[in-house]
Amino acid sequence: MNLRDVLLMRIAQNGPISLADYMAECLLHPTHGYYTCHMPFGVEGDFITAPEVSQMFGELIGLCLAQCWMEQGRPQQFTLAELGPGRGTLMADALRATRGIDGFHAAARITLIEASPRLKVLQQQMLSDYEIDTLGSVTDLPDRPLFAIANEFFDALPIRQFSRSETNWRETQVGAQNDQLAMGYGPELPQPALAYRLAETKPGDVVEYSPAAAPVIHEVGGRINRHGGAALIIDYGAWRSLGDTFQAVRAHQPADPLVDPGQADLTAHVDFEALAEAAPCAHTRLTPQGVFLERLGITQRAQSLAEHLSGPALETHIAGHRRLTHPDEMGNLFKVMGLFPNDGPPPPGLEK
Ligand code: SAH
Repeated sequence: MNLRDVLLMRIAQNGPISLADYMAECLLHPTHGYYTCHMPFGVEGDFITAPEVSQMFGELIGLCLAQCWMEQGRPQQFTLAELGPGRGTLMADALRATRGIDGFHAAARITLIEASPRLKVLQQQMLSDYEIDTLGSVTDLPDRPLFAIANEFFDALPIRQFSRSETNWRETQVGAQNDQLAMGYGPELPQPALAYRLAETKPGDVVEYSPAAAPVIHEVGGRINRHGGAALIIDYGAWRSLGDTFQAVRAHQPADPLVDPGQADLTAHVDFEALAEAAPCAHTRLTPQGVFLERLGITQRAQSLAEHLSGPALETHIAGHRRLTHPDEMGNLFKVMGLFPNDGPPPPGLEK
């Protein structure tokens, strides 16, 4: 039985499911889920993420977190964590770039938070030179200073989606029509969690929120506030989500999210305001990825790497720099928000 049949059977027995349930099944079903079964990244995968574009991305993130660690008095025994590390490329680049920082690796407990058994294996291989802990959930993070990165993690968390009427909301659901999966709407109901959106939306508007995101931020931000640390959250999205951003990507092309469930990557834009509101620590302003990387010195790093390159390798390198930073590419679509202790400085490259 494929995932479509599994879902059609569930819907026939229990009725339509929310978009959040649909996303969760498609992405992480134990035997049919996209992250469970596929190799999502790279030219032969379905999409390319920033750490796969250029080593400079992970290097600068690593140096940024190491700078935070130094500014906070070099705490001994801290967690260096990545949420949703994919192939492990970002962490590998971050570790290589910070090798020379006195005491940083010795004090770091490298910790990956990953739900996919298949990706866990790849991460172990990529980081085989290091001792790493892998956790299934942020709730298992130890109580100590936490320096963390999440790149394209929050966009993979399931969302609920609502269309506004006068004062109520109808939830987008996945049901069945003529033996096919079909989108529909639930009944019109009040949604207390969306009351704050009534002032600035109008009937017909679509809003989304991720029920899983706030608990993750609560765990990460709570440790940062209690024990020190910082988190860099990088994703596409905006300060406040508006409109339907639910999308499927397969083989680098937009796809129909209801066709072949489990075979395409499903994401939604991140509502950074909701993350900031859930954080029990201080947060920075939202900063475009291109601006953040420029402030961290990506151009100097690009020039120094370019000295050793020529021909097609140099062209790929220049294109990678442009892709990460240019406003027409990832530079503006992707945003960065930092979390830091209430009484501490914001991470380098970001502002309060
Ligand atoms: N950060 C990587 C990968 C992004 S893809 C990069 O930039 O290349 C999203 C990652 O989050 C994958 O590793 C996926 O398996 C993981 N993931 C998705 N949902 C998760 C969840 N609920 N808990 C833990 N990891 C999750």
